[in-house]
Amino acid sequence: MPFSKLTSQPNDPLLQLITAFSEDPRPHKIDLGVGVFRDALGLTPVMRAIKAAEERLLASQKSKSYLGPEGDKGFVKAIAALLFGSSLPDRFIDGIQTPGGTGALRLAAELLVRSGVKRIFLASPTWANHNAIFRQVGLEIIAIPCFDIINQSFNLAGFIDTLATASSGDAVLLHGCCHNPLGIDPTPDEWGIIAQHIAKLNLLPLIDIAYQGLGSGWSEDAFGLQTVLAAAPFGILTYSCDKNFGLYRERTGAVYVTSPDQEQLDCILSNILCLARTNWSMPPDHGAALVRLILEDKELTHLWRTELEEMRRRTLSLREDLARLGQVGHINLAPLTQGKGMFATLPLSPNQVEWLRSQHAIYMAHSGRINIAGFRDGDVERFGTALKSLIA
Ligand code: PMP
Repeated sequence: MPFSKLTSQPNDPLLQLITAFSEDPRPHKIDLGVGVFRDALGLTPVMRAIKAAEERLLASQKSKSYLGPEGDKGFVKAIAALLFGSSLPDRFIDGIQTPGGTGALRLAAELLVRSGVKRIFLASPTWANHNAIFRQVGLEIIAIPCFDIINQSFNLAGFIDTLATASSGDAVLLHGCCHNPLGIDPTPDEWGIIAQHIAKLNLLPLIDIAYQGLGSGWSEDAFGLQTVLAAAPFGILTYSCDKNFGLYRERTGAVYVTSPDQEQLDCILSNILCLARTNWSMPPDHGAALVRLILEDKELTHLWRTELEEMRRRTLSLREDLARLGQVGHINLAPLTQGKGMFATLPLSPNQVEWLRSQHAIYMAHSGRINIAGFRDGDVERFGTALKSLIA
């Protein structure tokens, strides 16, 4: 019988959380589960610059004919300029557009396997799909336990100790900024040390960045990736525009490779194009066309950056509101100001998470990850009260 070897797979727990939240009739419910940016009213609006770019695109686009597996070249170039600036004078860089950051990661993972890479090191925990994608293509994952969730800090020595067990040619995954699910990033000095070790051990860095502009600022958020890619001869970078351009369902991303030599870069890129062709042939156009229109126009760029900065500041000020609650039972929220971006993980057991949901209508991932942007006005205080009662 066909398909008899298949076993049923569990639903994605976060998608289950969305359904449970939407079916909950309690008016005061709080959604800290889904990983989308929200404004003070709990909405995820289309960004102003995107709306303006959509009007221009509607008026100016003359054809929907094929572009090619590389997608929108203007988009790829514009993102590269913002990402790398002039930080890598000794590297040749090229890339293609992909269906979201997930498409970029899938392609990067397949490229690693094609290149003979067998193992990938990563700081754990990481975004669940990282593990799933790397496992799917047959890479061995070496998890590095190096986060202190109680103090919201990164254990550099622990990270370097495990990294030192890697062999030449192994890959290492790093979050460019705003770590998902922890919000804990290395400091600039720590990035420097990580970069030196990657270069010394001759490892291949794969940097995934899905939140540029939502951490410390647009160029600050690129510091880590630039430092690592300047130190290692070759590197891969995967990019998502879902959060910083609010393009979630438009599936807009890119993958880049850095190389010390143009000929090798051309060879790598030809493999990337083959992989794209067999996976999705061509990426969807709409989101990338909008990003290109924004980045090629001073006025739209200003509009977009202003709104992105508002989003960043909202997340920062919510971190400060949470931190002001200080020690609540066994959880100290004060260190949350050290974190970056939308996510933080709290030391809560799955039972405690479940209890917060059933008793207080507060929804979050079972791991204790919260989306800080999910708090509306007044929610932080209620969250503090709920945490207090949880302990009592
Ligand atoms: N990397 C990380 C760290 C993410 O959190 C996400 C999800 N936002 C992605 C990649 C993939 O994003 P996309 O929705 O563009 O596929």
